[in-house]
Amino acid sequence: KIRQIAIYGKGGIGKSTTTSNISAALVKAGYRVMQVGCDPKSDSTNTLRGGTYIPTVLDTMREKKTVKPGDIVYQGFSGVYCVEAGGPAPGVGCAGRGIITAVQLLKQLKVFEDLELDYVIYDVLGDVVCGGFAVPIREGIAEHVFTVSSADFMAIYAANNLFKGIKKYSNSGGALLGGVIANSINAPYAKVIIDDFVEKTSTQVVGYVPRSVTVTQSELQGKTTIEAFPDSAQAQVYMSLAETIANHTQSKVPSPLEVQDLRDWAAGWADNLVALETGEIRSAAQG
Ligand code: ATP
Ligand code: MG
Repeated sequence: KIRQIAIYGKGGIGKSTTTSNISAALVKAGYRVMQVGCDPKSDSTNTLRGGTYIPTVLDTMREKKTVKPGDIVYQGFSGVYCVEAGGPAPGVGCAGRGIITAVQLLKQLKVFEDLELDYVIYDVLGDVVCGGFAVPIREGIAEHVFTVSSADFMAIYAANNLFKGIKKYSNSGGALLGGVIANSINAPYAKVIIDDFVEKTSTQVVGYVPRSVTVTQSELQGKTTIEAFPDSAQAQVYMSLAETIANHTQSKVPSPLEVQDLRDWAAGWADNLVALETGEIRSAAQG
């Protein structure tokens, strides 16, 4: 059975980088994988294809009367399949509709079955403020949702919003939450903050990814870190993250915080940050 996973997170938080490294790690491990970029920027699969761009599903549908799988599915690193959903012209139409249209076409063309995929990974925009982006959750397109977040308040705020979206659709067949991918975790306090947030919202961290110059170097070469620096420590981190996600089966309904509670929670951290930095306290409980 094909396993479908959606990765969400605030803009610029590292969704495409993390997703592409997970896809690269999974194909390298022998799985058949497709990454579907759901961002109108259509740059999700870039580092899987040497920094090149592919035509989007929506553009192709606008240009051609009949679309063949070969028009929209491209191969990248180690044979990973790449699709970019694309979007409407800026300022016109709903980007979420684009995702539905693209996924419907892939299903209609029986692409998932014909390619005998093990995993389809959707790289989705962060804010569920626009209903359209809830599509992969709401429509049950993906069974498991993961969110990329740093310890920054805005990233956590976006993750909490996503949790609200998941909870809202959870009793009508929507996707459930697999957990949080903690990205750019370098300072000790960052880990403590994220750990406290997942505890408060009844979820879990599935992997801690440090901020690393290796990622920047890989990106400049138009590659994932798995491809560019397969023996690096950072590649190891992505490989074990991919394994965790591949083996993940039990997703849950999270318990998001009310906005005021989230603000109070964040404010509570202000006083503790310095103490955490100096190692004076080591956990939220001590703070
Ligand atoms: P958008 O919302 O615009 O699609 P995104 O969430 O997909 O953004 P990315 O494009 O993956 O974010 O990452 C943004 C930038 O951060 C990139 O330049 C990427 O190389 C860098 N980056 C992400 N994660 C890391 C990391 N762990 N270490 C170093 N750089 C990182
Ligand atoms: Mg992106």
